[in-house]
Amino acid sequence: MIEPTGASERPISVAYFSMEVALDPAMPTYSGGLGVLAGDMLRAAADLGVPMAGITLLHRKGYFRQELDAEGQQRESPALWSPEQFLTLLPARVSVRIEDRPVAVQAWQYTIRGLNGHAVPVYFLDTAIDSNSPWDQTLTDHLYGGDARYRLAQEVVLGIGGMLMLRALGHDAVRTYHMNEGHSALLVLGLLRDLAWSGGLKDVVRAATDRIRQQCVFTTHTPVPAGHDQFPEELVRQVLGPALGEAIAASECCLQRTLNMTYLALYFSRYVNGVAMRHGEISRSMFPGYPINSITNGVHAPTWTTEPFQQLFDRRIPEWRRDNLYLRYAVSIPLAEIQHAHQEAKRRLLEEVERLSQVRLDPHTLTIGFARRATPYKRADLLFTDPERLRRMARRGLPLQIIYGGKAHPKDEGGKALIRRIFAAAANLRGDVPVVYLPEYDLRLAKLMCAGVDVWLNTPQKPQEASGTSGMKAALNGVPSLSILDGWWIEGHQEGVTGWSIDDAPEATSDATVEAQSLYNKLEFVIAPMFYRQPLAFAQICRSAIALNGSFFNANRMLQQYVQNAYNSRNNRPLTPA
Ligand SMILES: *Cc1c(COP(=O)(O)O)cnc(C)c1O
Repeated sequence: MIEPTGASERPISVAYFSMEVALDPAMPTYSGGLGVLAGDMLRAAADLGVPMAGITLLHRKGYFRQELDAEGQQRESPALWSPEQFLTLLPARVSVRIEDRPVAVQAWQYTIRGLNGHAVPVYFLDTAIDSNSPWDQTLTDHLYGGDARYRLAQEVVLGIGGMLMLRALGHDAVRTYHMNEGHSALLVLGLLRDLAWSGGLKDVVRAATDRIRQQCVFTTHTPVPAGHDQFPEELVRQVLGPALGEAIAASECCLQRTLNMTYLALYFSRYVNGVAMRHGEISRSMFPGYPINSITNGVHAPTWTTEPFQQLFDRRIPEWRRDNLYLRYAVSIPLAEIQHAHQEAKRRLLEEVERLSQVRLDPHTLTIGFARRATPYKRADLLFTDPERLRRMARRGLPLQIIYGGKAHPKDEGGKALIRRIFAAAANLRGDVPVVYLPEYDLRLAKLMCAGVDVWLNTPQKPQEASGTSGMKAALNGVPSLSILDGWWIEGHQEGVTGWSIDDAPEATSDATVEAQSLYNKLEFVIAPMFYRQPLAFAQICRSAIALNGSFFNANRMLQQYVQNAYNSRNNRPLTPA
């Protein structure tokens, strides 16, 4: 059993695999929510003394740097960084086979220190080793770059290389391999290879299944099909070699001659979960027959709380860092102190907006924030369905200003077009409604934005938002959400108490026309009038966002749920496929 408290160093028993991990704004080793969640999870493990290690790839050339021209055209350049500056290269080397060649893998260590000094190591795998071929040396360069062959080879390094590296580093007490998304699912093949090979391959696979399941936990993160990696069987045979290719074909994780990494992870895990209650439901309907649970995401409170609120909480509820449940007692913080801390957070954001975009926004104007990966289902432009409504609000003495941020994946043309549409809408509204789009959305900007705006907006197309976490960062800082009822907001929303919903139809799918109407009505008739005319009522909502949502949607609670439900679980799945 794992005890979630205590600072003594015990052997690593949970290995947490993630294609991306966000630890430091200066380390561009993440693209968005998945990496941020992984970083928060590992930070929580350090705080709670859970004996855990993280495994990821180095991403020497980072995700990318984003430049936006006057029309909102995104240009990308490599985000070069110096691992030596942040990480320590370890002497251990392991070797994986890719296309029948040995590929050497080394690891760099980053150490997260928790509140009581507990250390959680994070290993960044690296193939830039002279003895590797030039192509193999690039395998740990680009996060989500390259073609299917490149991606599959990366996943060999992450899954199989990661497992071998843990052993080479002496972590032989690992009881649970936690796959954060399917990218690392090939690690089950590493475990499979451990088991004796004899008899017909199919029988061996069946017999091994139970033993592998005893060791694996899987978290699925998206109901969007593109988020589930798939590789054609021929490519799998080519990259992994005939023996492993054969094993996969026999494992029933290959459907229609395609290896779906999600099925591989689902099949071989003793415990599987989605990242919010609704997402668990959606995942069960996507993968019928698999026992899929839900553990709702959370954010690392000390990391995501802006300094003005850190100081306020330290004064009023000093236990909050160690035990985030104490944020519940924010209910007794005087409203004036909440208002004061928020005003300071807003001042810091507006100062940064001016530095980055030369636009001076007004500290007394209702400020809406929207920032996340720019991709069509997030519908960053829903707010501009009817720009005249926004102008009308300004004329009626209820002005708005809006701050955007977010990168589009280099190959996501829909996402890039979305950014251009925001720029066009901003030009159209100039003079009436100031709209700024900040480039290079990252950990640092996310913290400034989530804390510094007055309302955090989220407009995903239902049911595609698995969880969403930036609204949780906002709540910790007393910033209420105005959001579609999807993902975490179904659980965090209490109308007029923690924020507001956009449309409250129970349907699990979106109607953009109805939702845009609802969005405008809430802004014009509920939120802006309260913001301008009843500041104390508004501050009460800010305070409830902290007390009700900050106290629950945090990584402290999330990790404890993983310990109780996933890491301490035993395999009781029947051997035959579900
Ligand atoms: C929190 C965060 C995200 C995820 O935000 P969502 O609300 O889940 O879309 C993405 N990128 C960065 C830099 C973040 O800090």
